[in-house]
Amino acid sequence: MIVIMLGAPGTGKGTIAEILSKKLEIPQVSTGDIFRKNISEKTELGKLAESYISNGKLVPDDVTVKLVEDRLEKDDAINGVILDGFPRTVAQAEALDEILKKTNKKVDVTINLTTPEEEIIERVVNRRICSKCKKIYNLVLNPPKENGICDNCGAKLEARADDNEETIKSRLKTYFEQTSPLVDYYNKKGNLYSATVSQSINKMGPDVANDIITYLEEEK
Ligand code: ADP
Ligand code: ZN
Repeated sequence: MIVIMLGAPGTGKGTIAEILSKKLEIPQVSTGDIFRKNISEKTELGKLAESYISNGKLVPDDVTVKLVEDRLEKDDAINGVILDGFPRTVAQAEALDEILKKTNKKVDVTINLTTPEEEIIERVVNRRICSKCKKIYNLVLNPPKENGICDNCGAKLEARADDNEETIKSRLKTYFEQTSPLVDYYNKKGNLYSATVSQSINKMGPDVANDIITYLEEEK
């Protein structure tokens, strides 16, 4: 099954993708995580990606598409993947359709997440990530048991370099200009599932993930 996680930064794509990945037993492919890994390893791709990411801009389509295409050819992707953060432009979505067509696959469901903008900024600024296992925390909504330490593996928590108020504003602008047209793109294909992830309506990531799983089971 090919699942796409669509949504502005900080709507909970990563959190929900992780739950779905365990439940559906297919890997989570996060382009953002792949770029960050390359940045920390100082690879050529990392150097290129960093210049865009630090400004809240998208990494160019050709680079990103090639990366995902290679990832989809790995053995563990044979039964499908959860695409977390890809596609992010119409050109990427069209390229993905072409890639999937070659192996007789298609996008089965696109999960479109929305969150009120004030909540997004608050959430992103308070987000912390485990430096080792990559588990996501929020200092206000979902703090670790011990300050600065991952509950899972004991490693240090850190903030992403682009999770500051200035960069998040630019990331949101990029989302509305370049990524939000994909809501319509997938809606027209008839495979869009929309959900609001919001503290103010008491619907956080794990609840939404459960709703999605129920929906997918009913669809079968
Ligand atoms: P978020 O959704 O919170 O912004 P991600 O980890 O998905 O976080 O992405 C972080 C950054 O990586 C993005 O702001 C962008 O610069 C880059 N990036 C991730 N996915 C893509 C993509 N599909 N196309 C281009 N750039 C991407
Ligand atoms: Zn950890």
